[in-house]
Amino acid sequence: MRLATLEGKRRWINGGVAALAIAGVAGLAAAALILWMVGDPMVAGGFLAAALVVAGVGGALIRLAGRSGEPVSVAYDWELMRVMAEASADGVAITDRGGRLVCANDQYEQLFAGFPTPPSVPLAGDGAGELEVAGRVAWRDGHARVTLRGAVGVIEATITRAGQQQDVLIWRFAGRAVAPGMPARLMEALEGPLGIQLGAAGVMAALITAEGYVIAANAVLRSRAAVSSEQAIVGEDLARFLVEGEGGTVRFVAEGVSANPLRLVQIPLADDADAPILVALIDSDAGISGSADGIEALLMLMPFGVALVDREGRFMQMNSAFARAANVDVGAPPIYPGDLVVREDKGAVADAIRRFASSAARSTDLAVRLKDHPDDPVALSIAAARGLGDAAVLLSLKDNGEENRLKREVAQATKMQAVGQLAGGVAHDFNNILTAIIGHCDLMLMRHSPGDSDYDDIQQIRANSNRAASLTRQLLAFSRQQTLRPQVLQLPDVVSEVSNLLRRLMGETVTLEVKHGRDLGPVRADPGQLEQVVVNLAVNARDAMLSKGTGGKLTIQTRSVPIAEIRRRGDIVPLGDYTALEISDTGTGIPADVLPKIFEPFFTTKEVGKGTGLGLSTVYGIVKQSGGFIFADSRTGQGATFTIYLPVHTAGVPDVVSVAAQAQQAARHRSGELWGTGTILLVEDEDMVRAVAERALARQGYTVLAAENGEAAMELMQGVDRPALVISDVMMPLMDGPTLARQLRKIHPGIPILFMSGYAEEQLRRSIDLDNVAFLPKPFSVQQLAEATRDVLLAQEGGNVAA
Ligand code: ADP
Repeated sequence: MRLATLEGKRRWINGGVAALAIAGVAGLAAAALILWMVGDPMVAGGFLAAALVVAGVGGALIRLAGRSGEPVSVAYDWELMRVMAEASADGVAITDRGGRLVCANDQYEQLFAGFPTPPSVPLAGDGAGELEVAGRVAWRDGHARVTLRGAVGVIEATITRAGQQQDVLIWRFAGRAVAPGMPARLMEALEGPLGIQLGAAGVMAALITAEGYVIAANAVLRSRAAVSSEQAIVGEDLARFLVEGEGGTVRFVAEGVSANPLRLVQIPLADDADAPILVALIDSDAGISGSADGIEALLMLMPFGVALVDREGRFMQMNSAFARAANVDVGAPPIYPGDLVVREDKGAVADAIRRFASSAARSTDLAVRLKDHPDDPVALSIAAARGLGDAAVLLSLKDNGEENRLKREVAQATKMQAVGQLAGGVAHDFNNILTAIIGHCDLMLMRHSPGDSDYDDIQQIRANSNRAASLTRQLLAFSRQQTLRPQVLQLPDVVSEVSNLLRRLMGETVTLEVKHGRDLGPVRADPGQLEQVVVNLAVNARDAMLSKGTGGKLTIQTRSVPIAEIRRRGDIVPLGDYTALEISDTGTGIPADVLPKIFEPFFTTKEVGKGTGLGLSTVYGIVKQSGGFIFADSRTGQGATFTIYLPVHTAGVPDVVSVAAQAQQAARHRSGELWGTGTILLVEDEDMVRAVAERALARQGYTVLAAENGEAAMELMQGVDRPALVISDVMMPLMDGPTLARQLRKIHPGIPILFMSGYAEEQLRRSIDLDNVAFLPKPFSVQQLAEATRDVLLAQEGGNVAA
């Protein structure tokens, strides 16, 4: 049961006409109440909003007394209350005037193993009585607080009278819960069959809190420790039932001075000081011979690796957690603990075991390197075992495989981020260099005509620089700083752009088949990013095929999508025209349980160092950014198919840029159209870029005032007329581009600004809060610089500045 609303899902006290105003007040009161319960103004605010909405729609949830003269009584939406109460880390219960429990949260259920009605909750000693008194105080004074002891340790109970009519009590129980979840199994086991089995073997066992309060105990312990059959042990301080005897033994107070001395074994269940402790009490005169089963069962239950070693230093028993942590081969178990560790640590382990087998010392921790993974030292705890028959030493080992995996993941992610930053930085610097190279080539080409002896060589340099530029684009994509340059394009163009690269990537055993459908609609996306998508999917496909061992076939297909197919995809894809890009392989396929996770960042099934888990999440991000949808279909062993639907672009022509169209467009902009006049302030700290830009602009007819940084630019502007345009780098030492722009606009309001940068436009736009600025990504050609300049100036003339 989750919700203790006793009278149905919603309790309506006194049916009647809805009164919105009062409902609002009730909402306020309830919000205040929630604020107190949860201690979180956000949650309470959310509740208030919800309550007001409820009030607004007609008070459907809240009804008032209809007849005049009767006290107006407000009902609460208990379901809503409970949901709010779940936000509290404490156990929360609400009782009404009649003392009935009307609402409680999950934490309350966990704390008291059910929904007992306060004050009748299971508490040690006369806890229930104390709580009842506190409840009465709360009705009278509005508030009461009491500290109690329950099965899970100390409980702080706070009781408050609340509600619009002050007609409910809210009971909040802050329990110092012991390692949640984990001892529950042990608790049950101790009080159930295992407890009986242990008892039969002469072992009394209890689970106690770090403070010593009993959480659970087996029947023998309960009956022997208690003075009378009614006396409760659970919830009490175990020490109260014991007195110290001779030679480190203990006795039960209840059994008197002549009672059998007992040996006490304490096993903390985790490393931290607050962890619960498992206690075993064994009659010191009784051997433990018959208890091997019981001990083993107990060991098996331990949430961490435990093993028993005899006086000779040989393993007697180990639980599965120990075997797992130490990577023990169950077929050929090791004889000595030293067999598990690297040669250098053998001596230390053997020494420590010898020492603890014969001394009174209690325990120690030893950092050892296991043979199987010598790179990650693990902590081996060695403790003297007394009263456990032949066992002399207790070893415990924490399985930190999961912890190490997380550590490696974090390290990997951190590394990726560092690599990303480095890549972004390198790409930025390269973009500057490439701008200079491409620019100089452009300037030279203007002086040479085709057929000229140098013309082809310069073209070569330029072509290779462009290749380098596409590399820096990949670097930026990797560091997620790429500038989005969506274009209207045809998918086959994208595929053919990368197919050579793919052939090389696939290796010899994988064949590549490319099929293009007819009548494909154009799509609008960034071609560089789409190439990235194809490459990422192809690399995954290759890995899946290579790990199958037989090689295989990668098929890349583009096709237009029939509307029926979109319908089959359900509500996810809105009906419309799409062009699909489909990449299928004949590899291992993706198991059904893995399939839902593959697009998550850092999800990988590949071994450490091979997979980053970023490939598909990047793909997903790009597809989403482009307004598309991606689906993975696969059956284990039968390969996988990734289908991407991109909406067909239908808007007007100006955007059209297939590769051919791009060329046409370039042709349309004959250089003559790019001529301009006026003064341009050019600010760029990279000498080579500034030189090229200066020459290129001067060539187009502009008067260029060049400055190597922001300060120099401000100086240059003294006593000079307003320039027509400012072209500036963004990142510069001391005064950066945006700061310069702001200062210039103080002198010349609204002056048009064109930023050039090797960083991503989106990022810059986010960090630059300036209106009316245009961007030119580096590297750019002389032509692109001239075009961008003309566009900004034209837009300025037209009154709307290009952005
Ligand atoms: P990585 O490749 O670094 O592991 P990805 O995000 O690219 O990260 O892929 C996540 C996981 O999805 C892979 O580890 C793999 O298990 C699974 N996967 C992706 N593509 C395929 C495929 N074509 N065939 C089989 N499994 C795949």
